[in-house]
This record gives sequence, structure tokens and C-alpha cells, in this order.
Amino acid sequence: MITSSELIALVKDRNANVNEDLLRKAYIFAMEAHGIQKRASGAPYFSHSAEVARILAELGMDVLTIVTALLHDVLEDSNVSHEELEEIFGSEVAFLVEGVTKLSRINYTSSKVQQVENFRKLLLAISCDIRVLIVKLADRLHNMRTLNYIASIEKRKKIALESLEIYAPLAERIGMNLIKDEIEDIAFYTIYSSEYHAIATRLEEIRSKDNDFIQNTILELQRVLLEAGIRAEISGREKKVYSIWKKMQKRNVSLEQINDIIAFRIIVKTVEQCYLVLGVVHSNFRIVPGKFKDYISIPKLNNYRSLHTIVIGPSKQPVEIQIRTEEMHKIADEGIAAHWSYKNGDVVAKEEESLKWVENLLNILQSRKNPEEVMSNSKLEMFEEEVFCFTPEGDLISLPRGATAVDFAYEIHTAIGNTCIGARINGKMSPLKTVLRNGDRVDIITSLYQSPEAAWEKFVVTGKAKACIRRFVKTREKFEFVSLGLQLVKYVFAMTEFSFNENLLNYKKFACSSLNKFYHNVGRGDIPLSAVRALLPDGETQLGMSEESVRLLDFVPGIVLHFADCCYPILGDKIIGIIASGKGMIVHLANCNQIEEGVGPLIRVKWDNNEEADAAFIARLRIVVLNKPESFAIITNIISLGGASITNIKIEHRSIDFFDLLVDIKINNTIHLEELEASLRICLNVRSIRRL
Ligand code: MN
Repeated sequence: MITSSELIALVKDRNANVNEDLLRKAYIFAMEAHGIQKRASGAPYFSHSAEVARILAELGMDVLTIVTALLHDVLEDSNVSHEELEEIFGSEVAFLVEGVTKLSRINYTSSKVQQVENFRKLLLAISCDIRVLIVKLADRLHNMRTLNYIASIEKRKKIALESLEIYAPLAERIGMNLIKDEIEDIAFYTIYSSEYHAIATRLEEIRSKDNDFIQNTILELQRVLLEAGIRAEISGREKKVYSIWKKMQKRNVSLEQINDIIAFRIIVKTVEQCYLVLGVVHSNFRIVPGKFKDYISIPKLNNYRSLHTIVIGPSKQPVEIQIRTEEMHKIADEGIAAHWSYKNGDVVAKEEESLKWVENLLNILQSRKNPEEVMSNSKLEMFEEEVFCFTPEGDLISLPRGATAVDFAYEIHTAIGNTCIGARINGKMSPLKTVLRNGDRVDIITSLYQSPEAAWEKFVVTGKAKACIRRFVKTREKFEFVSLGLQLVKYVFAMTEFSFNENLLNYKKFACSSLNKFYHNVGRGDIPLSAVRALLPDGETQLGMSEESVRLLDFVPGIVLHFADCCYPILGDKIIGIIASGKGMIVHLANCNQIEEGVGPLIRVKWDNNEEADAAFIARLRIVVLNKPESFAIITNIISLGGASITNIKIEHRSIDFFDLLVDIKINNTIHLEELEASLRICLNVRSIRRL
């Protein structure tokens, strides 16, 4: 394990004026926090954090990033709190450590193609700061290096697959190719060990057949360059097993047909020299047509710059040559991390020039499409408007930003949306209109009795949810107006001595084409009840109360049946109904004092006391609570524990000692409400409760 002095020396190598005290403090703090915990290898747990810090120090990352690496597992694996980190190391470090912790909590479960891309985007969205992702990648690299200590082969393979599908592509996109190569190679070795061995063996054969090949080629290249007066550093590097395998897959060729197993690199001082070298190489060796690529004029999207060409080399076989400057070489290996290292200040990445590059990079990272395509700014916006959430099975659902639990339900299946009654978000019961956040795990609760509520249309954001709700409401509306109309007509009959008889209903008088249309218009309030009464013999003009009452069970609230928002009746209350033209029926408390004179006949209505039904009603409470910081949380907690959900909450009045909360609660019936009121009254923070 690297000691704190070694680590500090390593950081100082790249950066003379480092905050040594901070590094030492983080080193000791993390070591103490992890205490006697052990890794699978038997090494102390903290050795992992120290090695992650070493990887980042070698990349020349800034001190805060290295401090974050030392602390990256303390929130998850020890008793340290976020507040403590903030107090000791400042808010920036606390924020970065929190970010890495959040990333680690995301569980990768599926490898379906579009899920994989969603996963990468989710990780980026959660990262917020690119340094969070860099620490996470170093963390993953060290876990891969120590993968062989994990006993279970299934577990090793699972981690390897996740690394290959998620982390290696992320490393590649921010240009950290050395990390990407190493992660990929270990992952490939773990998952496809027989393929790995086949290629490795074959490489060994090629090497032993012509073991001077690399040396001879380097010497020959050096000679022609010196003749042209150019000093350059030349090296030959065998490609990684995994990248050879990928090439074989892509081109569908055998190992023998791959001619660029070894890449030669010529590193010079300036861009001009790159093109000079290219000229010298092309005039001394025969070029393989169609293989020349100029990534200096047109860099790759992860800012990779280099000239690539393939020529017939000194040993009469094709060799790949990459020509670049030192700076380009560093970026090719380290990508975004290179920007922290080639200047001496501490948080260099904040300098304008680098910042711009980081910004461009983020554009590419966050775009919807394949990173090989050129991106425009609008695509970044598109990404910012997405949010990714999990099903309980671990599938990722992509939704537009602002989407609610109802949108999520419809996204899974129309039938789930149509019958949802609640949602458990990250294990906690939450209202259906809750706006979802990245990484939320959403479990939709459904009930056969439920049907879409017209009110949902106001808060859903996806086209699918909107369309489904509207379709349901439209069909349902027609049906319910007819049903309400029929009940109202029977209600009128019951005021008289006549028994119900459809022959008496001269619907043609109202320009209705059918009896159903007539009922529909009565239900809608377009044909007043007095006109219905007038159709019967010896029609009176005065309407009294009927012996009958209208049953509310048949109606889904919010379509043709509405609960008045002055008195909020709930199941069990004494109620009356009023017909509102074009809307249907509005139900008030029987003693509501907001009902205006002359709104039409008051209609006797009754609840159907069907306890089984999942009917839900809104009750409005005024709760006076102690003016203490925790009061709010206590109240909301009691309400949710009581199986109710809050649909609206408002602080009305605040004094030094108390404040008045106006809370709209969704509950089942009056008994449910009484129970809830009782449990609120027991609470010491509650002064009084009144239903409005
Ligand atoms: Mn870790």
C-alpha cells in the first residue's frame, strides 16, 4: 500500500505547490474510518482507497480529486456522515465524495442494448462534475486489478461485464484510453478466457518467429528520419488482446490477416514535424492505399489527435505507424485528465481554454446519438430533458424531465397506467403526481378498481399518458352522462305518483334522436329536471325532494361527478348534489354554506358504502403546529404512515411559536380520516386540527 509520504511525493512530482496537510489529513481520516475492514484479498480495506488515489496522482489530477479518491468509500462503508466531511474537508470535497457514492449505489442489472446506453447516460447525469466520473473510473480500474481475489466466478463475470459495457466506453468517451484498455483487457480475460488464451498464444508464436521485428523496424525508421534531419522518439507497442479480438470480429478476419497487431509510434515536438515525418515515411516505404487518416486536422470527438498510416515496412510486411506530438500523445492516453496535468496550478481544469474543451466533451457525452456522429448544441438540451428511472426488476425507463409516477406507469404498459393507485419511490409511498428524479426506483401499485382520473391529465407530461387518460375520460364521460341522466329521470319519477315508464318520455321534444341521447343531455344538465317533470301528466312546475337518491358508486370522480372544492366531502359525510350545466353533478356537504341560492334543485345523493372500493377523497385540514424545524417532517411522516397521501400543502400563517398548515390529504373515507386526525393529535408538535 502506498504511504501518505509516497502519495504526497507523487502528487508533488506533477504539481509543486500542493496542500500537503489536506492530503495527509484525508489519508489518516479515511484509514481510521475504514478501521479493520478487509478486502477480499485480505489486505486492509483502506489500501484500496489509497491505490485509487495513486492512480489519480499518476494521472496528475488536482489535490481535491485525490482527496476525494481517499475518501470515496467512507460514506458507504463507515460511519462518517456527509456533514462531517463537509466540516472537515469543505463542501467541494463532500460534494464530490457524495457523487461517487451515488454512482456506486446504481446497480447495473440488464445488458439489453438500449438499456446499456441509458445506463451510461444515467451515470453521467448523476456525476454532475466530471471529476466524480474520473474517480469512479479509477475506482473501477483498481477493482478490476484485484478482481482475481473474488472467489465466485459468477460475481467476477458480472463485474467484468459491467466494466466492459458501461465503464470502458465511458473512459473511452472522455479519452482516458489507458484506463479503458486495461479495464477491457481484464474484463475480456475474465469473461472470454478461452478466446483470450487463443489470441495470447498466437501472439506469442508471432513474436518468437520474428523476435527482431520490432527492433529492426524502429532502427530503420530512425535511420530514414535522421537522414531527413528529424529527431523523434519511436516505440513499438503490441495492441491489447481485447482490441485485436474486436478488430477480428468487426472485419470478420482471422488473426493471421490482422497486420496491425503492433503499432509504431513516432513522437515529435511540433505539429509541422508530424507532417514532415509523414512525408519521409511515405517516400521511403510503400503506402497501403486507403489506410491514411489525419486525426490532427479532424480530431476524434474525444479530442484524440494523431496521424495514422499503414506502409509496407522494412520486413516487407504491413506496419501501422502513428505520428503525433508529445501533447497529443498525453491526451491519447489520459484524455480529459491530461488537462489537469500539463499546467502547474491546482484546479487547472477551470481555466477557460480547458473548460471549453470539457464543455465540448460533455456535449458529446450527453448526446443521444452515437459519439462518432457530429453533435449540435440542441442535442445537449435533449439530454437535459431526460430522466432515467428503474423498474423493480432493474430495467431502466427513460422519460422526459418533469415526468411523474403516472407517466412512468403508462410507459411500462397502458394497463398499468390505467389502474395505478400509488407509487413506492425508493421504497417510500409517494403521491402519483411526484416528479421523478434520476435513478429513482419506482414500484407502481395497481388496483383493479382504479381507473384513470381526469385530474391526472394536468400533471402528466408524456404524450402516451395524456392520450390514454383523455381517451379513457372521453369514453367514460359519454357512458357516465347517460347513467347519471337515467338516475335523475328515475329520481324525478319518484317525486310523483307515477312509476318509471320510458313511454312517457317524449325525447323528440328536445331534438334528441334517441332515448340514450335524452338521458345523456339530462345528465349533462342541458335538459333541466323541471323540463323532465313537465313531460309527466299533471306536471307541476315546483320540484321537491325525491324519495329516491342518486347513487354515486357508478361514477369515477372528476368526469361527470365532482366534489366541491369549498367543502371537500369525503366518503361517509352527509352530502347533496347540484347539477351544473355541461359538467354533470357537483357534490357538497349537506351543510355547506357556500351553496348559492337558485343554483337549481338540491338532489338527494347517497354514497354506496362499499368498503372494498379503493375510492379516494381529498380532505382539507388546518393543522396548527409548533414552529420548530422538525414539525413539518413529523406531520408528513404521520400522514404517510397513516396510509394517506398529501396532495397539497401550504403554510398559511407563521408566528414565533406556531404556524398554520393547510394540508390537502387523499384518504379513503371518514373513518380513515378520524384515525388519521387521532394520530396527529397524539403528536406533541401538533396544537390543533380542524377539518375545513
Ligand atoms: Mn471503491
